[in-house]
Amino acid sequence: MTEVFATASRWMDSELAMFDDSVARHLSSSIPPERIAQWRENGIVERKAWSELAEAGLLGLSVSENYGGAGGDFRHEAVLLRRLGLAGLDGWGVPLHNAICAPYIEKYGTEEQRQRWLPKLVSGEMVAAIAMTEPGAGSDLQGIRTTARSHGNGYVINGQKTFISNGQTADLVIVVAKTDPDAGSKGISLIVVETVDAGGFKRGRNLDKLGLEIADTSELFFDDVKVPADNLIGCVEGQGMYQLMRELPKERLIIAIECLAAIESAINQTVDYVIQRKAFGQRVFDFQNTQFKLAECKTEAVIARSFVDDCIQRYLNGELDSATASMAKLWLSERAQHIIDTCLQMFGGYGYMNEYPISQLYKDIRIKRIYGGTSEIMKLLIARSLVG
Ligand SMILES: Cc1cc2nc3c(=O)[nH]c(=O)nc-3n(C[C@H](O)[C@H](O)[C@H](O)COP(=O)(O)OP(=O)(O)OC[C@H]3O[C@@H](n4cnc5c(N)ncnc54)[C@H](O)[C@@H]3O)c2cc1C
Repeated sequence: MTEVFATASRWMDSELAMFDDSVARHLSSSIPPERIAQWRENGIVERKAWSELAEAGLLGLSVSENYGGAGGDFRHEAVLLRRLGLAGLDGWGVPLHNAICAPYIEKYGTEEQRQRWLPKLVSGEMVAAIAMTEPGAGSDLQGIRTTARSHGNGYVINGQKTFISNGQTADLVIVVAKTDPDAGSKGISLIVVETVDAGGFKRGRNLDKLGLEIADTSELFFDDVKVPADNLIGCVEGQGMYQLMRELPKERLIIAIECLAAIESAINQTVDYVIQRKAFGQRVFDFQNTQFKLAECKTEAVIARSFVDDCIQRYLNGELDSATASMAKLWLSERAQHIIDTCLQMFGGYGYMNEYPISQLYKDIRIKRIYGGTSEIMKLLIARSLVG
């Protein structure tokens, strides 16, 4: 099996290398390709797999040990992200659960909220989702119409969300809602809805997508859903936009890491294929065109990893700014799509067959230029950093 990267990332140490090994072993032994194929067909990962991941200690990797987590840091999440990608599991909403949703509660929640929800996220008793996007507002988050109106000792939530990852599975949904519709960005709050027995909460369709078939992506409906006041993350209204803005650079870095894993996987698969496939009496690898194209792909892969590693280090140092994270997401997602397309071409007709993982990568990568902020929105954020 080809390995496009001869050495590990510089931030890996011996403890992380052991962890990386154990994650790779766990995924390959407990999730064989037939199981993934079944999930793709079903359009959802079976719930049991979440519990298995929790038993293997891989849920709540960076949640503090005080709440039952593994007490790791973002490097552990990065290792898991790469391994999920290499295993063909990109789209399984584990990074969203682990590295996006749980941190909203751990960083911005009250102590009572941490104790109430984090142990359940670590044990897999609860799966998390975050619901920002609505049918009428995606890029323009301030345009959301979902409201959470104060009522007695709690809130009443009304609205509709769409494209929500883990939407069919989630027991805990962080809902982005307006607690003060007249206050613009200062009127937005993050409120937890525990879906079990939540009157007025309904899941819509598991949406039929171009790729990323193992991910359940859903519409969610909130019709007079009542939640207690202490479901408001941090228990102070109007903090939602600030909390989202603080966390979105990490979300974009996560997508860049997913893109890097897809690039790595594509090049590895392609080199393996072209050295055994024959045409005109020689290996496909022996054509100069193949070598030149793959040389270009490898060069970009190495540059990409260097940039991603730098962003990971900046994140760990608390220095990852919005523009840099946006550049990582923009560049990685655009280059990944180009590299995977180039690689697929070298498989000839086999690359177009679903049984070849390169075709899945080709479908799955398209979304990376759209979700977590589109390429156009990334460019706006980057452009802002050009002027003081
Ligand atoms: C598979 C999948 C999973 C998702 N998971 C989640 C999730 O878990 N939670 C969640 O909340 N959301 C999720 N999303 C939603 C995703 O983040 C949005 O689709 C994305 O932010 C774009 O919003 P939109 O679809 O409304 O497009 P729009 O905002 O309507 O954009 C349409 C087009 O206009 C462009 N555009 C918009 N504004 C500007 C501008 N100012 N300048 C230039 N061009 C602009 C966009 O770049 C795009 O090309 C998911 C989406 C998908 C498809």
